[in-house]
Amino acid sequence: MSELSFEQLPLSASIHRALADKGYTTPSPIQAKAIPVLLRGQDLLACAQTGTGKTAAFALPVLHGIAERPRRTFRRGVRHLVLTPTRELAGQVAESFAVYGKYVQFRSGMVYGGVSEKPQIKMLFQGLDVLVACPGRLLDLMDQGHVDLSQVETFILDEADRMLDMGFIRDIRKIEKQLPKQRHTLLFSATMAPAITELAQAMLHQPEEIRIAPQGTTAEKVDQSVCFIDQKAKQHLVMEMMHRRLDQRSGELSLIFTRTKHGAKNLARKLNAQGLRADSIHGNKSQSAREKTLESYRRGEIDILVATDVAARGIDVKNITLVVNFDLPMEADAYVHRIGRTARAGASGHAVSFCSGDEVALLRQVEKLISQSVPVDSGHDYHDQAAMDLHLSNRPVKKPPQGGGNRPGGNRQGGPRRGGGRRPGRGGRNVQGSSRGGRRRS
Ligand code: AMP
Repeated sequence: MSELSFEQLPLSASIHRALADKGYTTPSPIQAKAIPVLLRGQDLLACAQTGTGKTAAFALPVLHGIAERPRRTFRRGVRHLVLTPTRELAGQVAESFAVYGKYVQFRSGMVYGGVSEKPQIKMLFQGLDVLVACPGRLLDLMDQGHVDLSQVETFILDEADRMLDMGFIRDIRKIEKQLPKQRHTLLFSATMAPAITELAQAMLHQPEEIRIAPQGTTAEKVDQSVCFIDQKAKQHLVMEMMHRRLDQRSGELSLIFTRTKHGAKNLARKLNAQGLRADSIHGNKSQSAREKTLESYRRGEIDILVATDVAARGIDVKNITLVVNFDLPMEADAYVHRIGRTARAGASGHAVSFCSGDEVALLRQVEKLISQSVPVDSGHDYHDQAAMDLHLSNRPVKKPPQGGGNRPGGNRQGGPRRGGGRRPGRGGRNVQGSSRGGRRRS
């Protein structure tokens, strides 16, 4: 947190009041840097992960503008447009606007796919001060003439890297074409991949650049480790870890990432079968089912959530103290997003990654991105020395094909149990230092 207090920021009194209600006194670093830039009306290119307070960084100046210059919304018109990659994130952004803007008079709404268009069309008809939208559905509604973006004052791209990963680039470009040239544009991204820089060049005008964490930097407070393990033994290790956590740390939540929807569903079922309170969220679940699951997770009615990357995007749940990468992500960026789900708002957290021999290439990509080696935890019953040796060697390894190779939950019958060794987290981890004795990073 910075030295600045919110009182020193020239935001409208109604916003200060809402912040005081929330108990926020000090702007987070991204807020301290971005808010003055945005109040000046300058475009912004911000490299910041979720958990840094980036939502308020853009929501507060937008709400300030609405409070200071109230305007009647016009039919189908939108004054401030926020694009988000997923419905979950759209919901959280809209909720943040509602919380920070509780004393500001404004109309806001959301559009996202997977639900009926009708209520969204009706809501758009009266015009909105703030629209939070997922690109695909917004474009559909634009094509049908239900939304007029010709008077947008602020255009915000939230989690732009994820939108590009999800293939929204063409939709974003089409949407942007409908916006006035004279506008205020903000782009937030967890990483600054070349595609993001290119997008920023096309859409932003002389932006101020802010980097809250250098590219790929993982949340500082996350204690990371990697367990080398055969794919088939992963379920055994995760079960043991979850049982142990339940014994030792009640009330703390665990988030497990699998690569496929099927893997998420399957693993949650297996955890349930062992008497653990787990559920899953993935793309095959309806929006209302996902929201229901997230709500029980937030309330602590379930301790373990198994999720795919897309479904987990934007989850903002405070009590997550452990993230398990049951499968390493195909794209290294996702690793940073995943582990950012723990250690939020100043808390500390752990991230444990399972790496099978087939995933060594993925681990190398992660380490390259975060510019550090992830400490190895070999003190568990299933340690796979061969996978570790492969990782430490300079031998070239192939990246598994998307959706193939390491099928999560691949061990339908359960894998071999190696006896004897110490278990992770019991009596201290056998973590091998992060220095790799001259291993050349791939
Ligand atoms: P975000 O990165 O926008 O997802 O925010 C991460 C979390 O930090 C959310 O739960 C916010 O409610 C919280 N938060 C945002 N700004 C502040 C602040 N200045 N002080 C304390 N908590 C904050």
